[in-house]
Amino acid sequence: MNTLQMNEWIGTASKPIIIAGPCSVETPEQLDQTVNYLVKEGIRIIRGGVWKPRTRPNSFEGVGEIALPWIREAKSKYGVQFAIEVASPYHVEKALEYGIDMLWIGARSTVNPFTVQDLADALRGVDIPVWVKNPVNPDIALWIGALERLNRAGVKKLGAIHRGFSNFNDSIYRNSPTWQIPLEFKTQFPEIPLLNDPSHISGKRDLILPVSQMALDLNFDGLIIESHINPDQAWSDSAQQLIPADLGKLIAQLQTRIATV
Ligand code: PEP
Ligand code: MN
Repeated sequence: MNTLQMNEWIGTASKPIIIAGPCSVETPEQLDQTVNYLVKEGIRIIRGGVWKPRTRPNSFEGVGEIALPWIREAKSKYGVQFAIEVASPYHVEKALEYGIDMLWIGARSTVNPFTVQDLADALRGVDIPVWVKNPVNPDIALWIGALERLNRAGVKKLGAIHRGFSNFNDSIYRNSPTWQIPLEFKTQFPEIPLLNDPSHISGKRDLILPVSQMALDLNFDGLIIESHINPDQAWSDSAQQLIPADLGKLIAQLQTRIATV
């Protein structure tokens, strides 16, 4: 049963929603060029990680808040909206200070009710959209609980992102899509926009098209896809990022949903 108080914030005309951008913001030049080329492919909402939740220490953990002025500059130069991940009240404070348009809560934060509650408290009275990624484990209640915590704090522009679930056994997917979970989510919360994240599900470029197509066939509201000007040199998630031109080709190949009944 739906218990969330939502504001309408995405018009039907803008669907499917496409958010694209690098896994991580790396340098001013990388950000500027990636946004430049993505805009040429028609992308109007850019994603980019500033603080990165890496599974093991000693990997690149994001450039941090020095990226925020670069993002502000790219937003005004190209007239795009920008979404970043937040995982602490400090991240929220900084994101708001720099005029970030949308936030997302990552899969490793959604699993932790204390973290989610801290984020919800930091977002009290804030009116920007917040996307909640599914938790790393296939627990729909944690996903819903995170949305409820935000909603109780007054966040009314909510969205959900299906990024797949951790595997123990070998799988072709980096994170198993387990489609029945987002479909159950959709049944319970039809008014919450639901995006698919084929990049973190696939973990490699060649699966991004079939996963994206499956999501559109299942009537998802859109996609969030990683794109980088030089994926082989990317500081994180290099195997799954697409150059902007290839993202444009992929979007052109996607069939919008054809009703079968
Ligand atoms: C990301 O979007 O770059 C990311 C780290 O995602 P997730 O939280 O889904 O692992
Ligand atoms: Mn990534």
